[in-house]
Amino acid sequence: MQAIFKIAAIALAATAAVGSHAESYPAPGKTITIIVPFTAGGPTDKVARDLAESMRKQLNNATIVIDNADGAGSTIGTAKAARAHADGYTLLLSHIGMATTPTLYRKLRYNVLSDFEYAGIINDVPMTLIGRPTLPAKSFAEVKDWASKNQGKVNLANAGVGSASHLCGLMLQSALQADMTPVPYKGAAPAIADLMGNQVDLLCDQTTNTTSQIAAKKVQAYAVTTPKRLATPALKELPTLQESGLKDFQVTIWHGLYAPKGTPADVMKTLNTALKASLKDPEFIQRQEALGAVIATDSRVDPAGHKKFVESEIAKWGKVIKAAGIYAD
Ligand code: ASP
Repeated sequence: MQAIFKIAAIALAATAAVGSHAESYPAPGKTITIIVPFTAGGPTDKVARDLAESMRKQLNNATIVIDNADGAGSTIGTAKAARAHADGYTLLLSHIGMATTPTLYRKLRYNVLSDFEYAGIINDVPMTLIGRPTLPAKSFAEVKDWASKNQGKVNLANAGVGSASHLCGLMLQSALQADMTPVPYKGAAPAIADLMGNQVDLLCDQTTNTTSQIAAKKVQAYAVTTPKRLATPALKELPTLQESGLKDFQVTIWHGLYAPKGTPADVMKTLNTALKASLKDPEFIQRQEALGAVIATDSRVDPAGHKKFVESEIAKWGKVIKAAGIYAD
């Protein structure tokens, strides 16, 4: 009889331990760090800071800080996240780079599919092709013409090999058969700053970074990378690249939330629930939609679906990258 009581007591204690872990995450006073593998002030950073604001409300008002571990087209910050303690206090917010870097880098120090837990997709963000204020081309047709007359002389900024701007730039060069010089930065924030200062010619970047600069006429805007024109007031006059003659051109940048492999399942469940709730927060929606982002629906904020999607994106962009024949070490 006593033995039965003992077993029951152990079982109860075990249940309480599992339950208390879930209940105590995040523990009062502990800080959650979200690693963003690009510079502060850029589009990925913007998504992370907006999201952190909403996630905090869902996670007992926990302090959430952003760590901009930038450089090498997202691979430095992603490696840092892969090596972090798997306790739910270090997370990673990254974009399509999770799917392009496995092909672009010959020696990646982590495995995107086996070194992370997946919390869910956050949003989809269109890109815009923009140019320096003094660029003589005033429309996409003129950019095409100008680039073909200036083969080898056009500078195309990007946020490093594996970044979204790098991928878009590769696609653009191949579609236009244009020889342009890539100029890598640690993120799109310094890239757009140099573009506004007429230091580089062109940049393809997310609307979360370009919308306000386009509205303020600090850069020239030529086209959007989505198959349909956008509804955002500052962007709605922009043609799509497809309607401008690049028939198959289509790229949209998604963002996702990750944790190091081994982060406890109950913590991942809490994070997934907090993420879903954040994506329904009217303030988050308003801030993101004003910049052209499309918030992920519940069905995409699903860990297994997120991982499957990344797998399919690795296969999809792997073909494009291999065809371009560009690799980094
Ligand atoms: N948008 C940038 C890219 O090209 C990165 C950043 O968020 O700064 O991938």
